[in-house]
Amino acid sequence: MKYKLETIPVWDAFKEDTECPICYLAEKAEERYLKFYLGNSVMNPETRVEVNKTGFCSHHYSGLLQMRSNHALGLMTHTHLEKRMELLSDHFRSLKSEASKVSGKAALLKSKKLSGAIKNLTEHLSENEEKCMICRRIEYTIQRYTFTIIHLWKTDGEFRNFIQKSNGFCFHHLPELLKMAEESLNPGKLGEFIEELIPIIEKNNERIEKEILWFTQKFDSQNSDKPWGTSEDAHYRTVQKLTGLSNNSIKK
Ligand SMILES: [Zn+2]
Ligand SMILES: [Zn+2]
Repeated sequence: MKYKLETIPVWDAFKEDTECPICYLAEKAEERYLKFYLGNSVMNPETRVEVNKTGFCSHHYSGLLQMRSNHALGLMTHTHLEKRMELLSDHFRSLKSEASKVSGKAALLKSKKLSGAIKNLTEHLSENEEKCMICRRIEYTIQRYTFTIIHLWKTDGEFRNFIQKSNGFCFHHLPELLKMAEESLNPGKLGEFIEELIPIIEKNNERIEKEILWFTQKFDSQNSDKPWGTSEDAHYRTVQKLTGLSNNSIKK
């Protein structure tokens, strides 16, 4: 697949002091999409139809709640709830109908049809949770960014040096970067990329391991007067390295 290049935001993210520039880019994209869905787009019929059908995951609903655009959020969730109720009504109809056939009866075997109706409803609800529009848009945006990172690594010597000096990537985004490298580089270049990338990751994992170790040791009374060095916020950065949560979403 061909992706659009996004060189300016990618360069900006690499200039930030962060444990993972892809986290930084994802955070910015998330902010943009949260604003988008509570902005004028609420009135745009196409967006309304899309929101009505799928809605958002709990993480992004909580982001939308924090935006404090209560009227816009109220309008959006009202029509979404109406659509969800409409979709649920078929499931509820068959659940009630199958339940009424066995209700109160001393049957020894479970009703397969009733179990089937429970399964259908469960699948319908869990599928919906995976369809969050903000999650999907962030995912696609991240693909454009990882494509750009690989492209810049291949074509721009200055960027290649920059990656060498970076803090590496988090454990959540590393697979996405490797997947894109596999998709967009020829076998020789892929080998070269991985040979360069893995030592950067290893070096930075060792660095943060030392920082978090000193962070824990600072709680010993014999160390309380010694300087923190770079370890004072090492617990936040370690969580980010492990999970991909960016600094903004882990409020200090
Ligand atoms: Zn990340
Ligand atoms: Zn989501």
